[in-house]
Amino acid sequence: MPEKKTFAILLTVTALLILSALTLLYVVPYYGLEAIHDDLPWIAGGVFGVLGGGLVLVLGLLIVVTMLGRDVPFSRKLRSFAVKGLLPLLVVVGRLIGLKREDVQHAFVAVNNELVLAQCRNGRPPRSVLLLMPHCLQDQDCEVKITHRVENCKRCGKCPIKGLLELAEQYRVDLAVATGGTIARRIVLEKRPDLIIAVACERDLTSGIQDTTPLPVYGIFNERPFGPCLNTRVALDRVESLLREITSLNAKRETP
Ligand code: SF4
Repeated sequence: MPEKKTFAILLTVTALLILSALTLLYVVPYYGLEAIHDDLPWIAGGVFGVLGGGLVLVLGLLIVVTMLGRDVPFSRKLRSFAVKGLLPLLVVVGRLIGLKREDVQHAFVAVNNELVLAQCRNGRPPRSVLLLMPHCLQDQDCEVKITHRVENCKRCGKCPIKGLLELAEQYRVDLAVATGGTIARRIVLEKRPDLIIAVACERDLTSGIQDTTPLPVYGIFNERPFGPCLNTRVALDRVESLLREITSLNAKRETP
């Protein structure tokens, strides 16, 4: 998967840059510290060593999860760190090595998804799932109001809402349509699901994943054949295969 490779490269470059900065921060004032006290350079060396070692460990674990798709210890905390602390830094590092913001966002969401799935497979599978969809999926000529009650949809099939409703019923999960970030946050607070499967564009998906951490969000980018925010589409087969996997994880868990 190219996104995983991009993310692993970004993490490696970021780790090297931070380690270089830590080395410089240690080496440059080394002789000044020695003038204050003989032991000070060793103490400073220990502090920078622990910081550098911790960083290499965290980024190394992230690379393992990214490349192998396996769960690692502290995967929940790791996801929170990656989601909250790492993305802005990765965008800057991505620019330095010639990547577009969207490439970094795709890599970030792909790895977030790996971490979320690893948590579901190795921890407690989610009991309640919310499918959170953007309003731009609805056909622009459709006059049915689905934002407050998606069941109002007449299922004419002109847009993906019909298929999503069928999936929601088949797998017994909640489906909601949000017109923006504020409404999406309100829906999440009302439903309080164990897992959100969210569909959106790069900007909304990455900011939504960051906003809702530590709540796990599996992100799927919408398709935009007519440009942004107009009659967008979603790969229903991807949503379905994820729901199928979660259902089978729950079934395995309940089997004595
Ligand atoms: S499937 Fe539902 S929401 Fe989409 S156009 Fe038809 S009635 Fe409207």
